Amino acid sequence: MKTTMKTISKLDPTLGASFIEKPIPSIKDDEILVKVLATSVCGTDVHIYDYNPWAQSRIKLPQVMGHELAGQIVELGKDVSGLKCGDIVSAETHIVCGTCEFCLNGQGHICQNTEILGVDRDGAFAEYIAIPAKNAWLNDPLIDPAMLCIQEPLGNAIHTVTSGEIKDKTVAVVGVGPIGLMAVNVAKALGAKIIIAVDINDYRLDLSKTLGAKIALNSYKDDVTKSVLDATGGYGVDVVCEMSGSAKALHQAFTYLKKGGRLSILGLPDNPMMIDVANEIVFKGITIHGITGRRIMQTWQQGKDLIDHNLLDLDKIVTHILPFEDYEAAFKLMHEGNCGKIVLRVGEKELL
Ligand SMILES: [Zn+2]
Ligand SMILES: [Zn+2]
Repeated sequence: MKTTMKTISKLDPTLGASFIEKPIPSIKDDEILVKVLATSVCGTDVHIYDYNPWAQSRIKLPQVMGHELAGQIVELGKDVSGLKCGDIVSAETHIVCGTCEFCLNGQGHICQNTEILGVDRDGAFAEYIAIPAKNAWLNDPLIDPAMLCIQEPLGNAIHTVTSGEIKDKTVAVVGVGPIGLMAVNVAKALGAKIIIAVDINDYRLDLSKTLGAKIALNSYKDDVTKSVLDATGGYGVDVVCEMSGSAKALHQAFTYLKKGGRLSILGLPDNPMMIDVANEIVFKGITIHGITGRRIMQTWQQGKDLIDHNLLDLDKIVTHILPFEDYEAAFKLMHEGNCGKIVLRVGEKELL
């Protein structure tokens, strides 16, 4: 076997990324080596590419980027059981300690000692990646890896949509970037009554309609509050999934979230923001959920059930599939925003 591999790595504290050869990682006894078949580009990767303030404070250079993947196991550590070479897996990207209070209570997604693939250790924009075996998620080998690599962000969407009841509920998804688009699709699959998408990008709003949104509102052009209230008998929606990170959009969401409704927030505002606690939260009697990561591994099981029953339109959510080397085009598309999920094809399955 060869000893080096192609990677997309962050080398310098400036804008951009480099396509460089690195040694193929060696694995520990509880890890597996995965040959990456497909990897998708996340907003986090864009932050690292841009080297924004968050990336500057978090990323230790040099670093192999990327964390969303589907690949084939090519080597097993000696303590690994339940997996075999040739299996097609994806990975939960949060490597949790398993011993803190949260992990012990089944809340690994808020583990005290989380390490993240492609952020705190080398990631999936590479021909090979080493991951702890406990983080592997076994896939159906007959499904295209380009569809399977997006399960990790899909899990964020599922976690947000299902943090309360969704069946027969009216729901607004605010911010239909890739995870918002997935949230629309998941809400539809789980039987939401009316799905309303809100964004500022018409490409993504149009896409949201093909994924289940009945109404798509551009907050630059439409009166969002009036439109949502008109569509819900004047009461507002039962559920808001906030995926935009926009303070303005969040304040607006309070105007059309029904009294007693649920607000599940995944989007991250860049700065602290003021909230009118009395009027926006207390008098409305709403419930607010902060959503981080995925429930390990319940969210993966929910995703698998949706995928295996063919309830999602993954081929519409993935709008671009590019060769690994064309990563600059992928980042350009991400910056422009006229895309759903972008997948890079990396390697081919081997007969093992
Ligand atoms: Zn991601
Ligand atoms: Zn923990």
